[in-house]
Amino acid sequence: MSPRLASSRSVFVVPLAAVLAAALLASCSSASPDASASRTPSESPVSAGPTPSPQAGSAEPEPESSPAETEEAPPASPTPPAFDATARSIDDPSSLWVVSDKLRPLDPVDYAPTDLVTPDVASQNPPTLRAEVAAAVVEMFAAGEAEGAGAFQVQSAYRSYALQVDVYGGYVQREGQAAADAQSARPGFSEHQTGLALDISPIPLSCPLKACFGDTTQGRWLADNAWRFGFLLRYPVDKVEVTGFMYEPWHFRYIGPELATEMHETGVTTLEEFFGLPAAPDYAG
Ligand SMILES: [Zn+2]
Repeated sequence: MSPRLASSRSVFVVPLAAVLAAALLASCSSASPDASASRTPSESPVSAGPTPSPQAGSAEPEPESSPAETEEAPPASPTPPAFDATARSIDDPSSLWVVSDKLRPLDPVDYAPTDLVTPDVASQNPPTLRAEVAAAVVEMFAAGEAEGAGAFQVQSAYRSYALQVDVYGGYVQREGQAAADAQSARPGFSEHQTGLALDISPIPLSCPLKACFGDTTQGRWLADNAWRFGFLLRYPVDKVEVTGFMYEPWHFRYIGPELATEMHETGVTTLEEFFGLPAAPDYAG
């Protein structure tokens, strides 16, 4: 029922290869400006799980057709450690992999993160996010701008249970519950309450929280590159029946680089499908 493996480019080793190539070809041509060294995973403490050892299983002595014959070690590990989909909880609201949808309320329903910080980025209102997410957003915005996508700002980030009560309640009052449910999560069901999700807009502001954001240079760049920084476009245009939410090209959910890379490489675009969970088109009651 789901078109998996839509595009499984094997980009796993590209950053390292690109950096090497850029170093070697520095004098040749300026045709590849993309290796701007902006992806430094050094400050993400997420690698709690399997750390790929550089010595792991060095099988092949030489890459077949390397254009340069430096004696640098070839890009390591042709066989990265297998991805373990059970490495983190999908139920614990403090887990980077928590799956929150219309069938999966946060537990406890009024969960609040304990490590919220304010990232140093442009924003409509001073946002807060969990510390690891905040660092990743700063890195992602800088990379997007450096790679020619333009400037970004945070439209909305962490929202508490109490605030979501107000937001959702406002929709219900103005438009009724059905319309509210199509546009806003009920309190306890919002990814924004985890401190792992944020809404992004361009600078200068255009198409805020609208589908046309997906056609801006910023929106296109995010759709293609957010995974590199551990983010997922959580509500894709073709998965409304799975996620229960309309297309939201501005809403990005942090899941960490490990899972984001795995989803990117396998072409699975929703957490529900990746973890084998039922589609959540609507609330249970
Ligand atoms: Zn959002």
